[in-house]
Amino acid sequence: MELLKIKQIALIITHRCTLKCRLCGNYSPYYYPPPHFSAEALSKTVQGIFDIVDIIEKFNINGGEPLLHPQLPEIIDFISSFIDKINIFEITTNGTIIPNDRLLKSLSFSNKVDILVDNYGPKLSTKIPEISEAFNGANIRHRIRTYYGVDTHCGGWVDLSDLSKKYTIDKDIESIFLKCLLNSKLKCMPIIDGKAYVCPTYKRCKDLALISDNPSEYIDILSDAISVSVKKEQIRNFYNRKYFAACEYCSGFCDDSPRFPPAGQLGDNDG
Ligand code: SF4
Repeated sequence: MELLKIKQIALIITHRCTLKCRLCGNYSPYYYPPPHFSAEALSKTVQGIFDIVDIIEKFNINGGEPLLHPQLPEIIDFISSFIDKINIFEITTNGTIIPNDRLLKSLSFSNKVDILVDNYGPKLSTKIPEISEAFNGANIRHRIRTYYGVDTHCGGWVDLSDLSKKYTIDKDIESIFLKCLLNSKLKCMPIIDGKAYVCPTYKRCKDLALISDNPSEYIDILSDAISVSVKKEQIRNFYNRKYFAACEYCSGFCDDSPRFPPAGQLGDNDG
């Protein structure tokens, strides 16, 4: 039986965050209150993922700010039992929280661990030196991604906040999906509340009821009504379509999308 391998997943463990980025790719500041998932619920999801999938090239933990989750060490401990099926285990963090000893202990389980620390500059990512020192002290691989100034990674962020309907012709929706890096290159499926989506924009459109609930456009990992073999087929065929319903409302995450300074903060009257 051919192994089922997927490129990337991003397990969203909380939408709580220490920052309020206007262009947050996961729309975290726009949820009131921010959804937050328990270690128990996330463990069931992780078990469900590995019941379906044999290899994940990159397993990313994402938020919100994942280090705000008080049960993060327990979540990592649970995922560690599947490390043979993971090539890289990554956590994305925003440079505002120093990992404590309990977290460092959990992260020491494998040399596949690679922490991605986003540096939004000294005014926002205030703890970069201390974070680096903590990871270095515990011998945990990490890298700092510069997201400010002239060396801003990828030239900045893409603005996917405008979810107005953009296309009326089928071939225009098809062409934005074809161009979109979430489809053509990254293939990073966000896992939110037990379901795997093509992108966070899809989930946001669904939450805003811009698109109707269509179970053929996501994978319901926890559903007992769908067999594991059907879920495997859903994953195998996931990207074999002309587009997703949300693409009609999206300008796409593309190589040529305009770039904006990362982590611009929402004011008290925004959002
Ligand atoms: S909704 Fe937008 S970001 Fe998501 S796959 Fe379609 S074009 Fe890409």
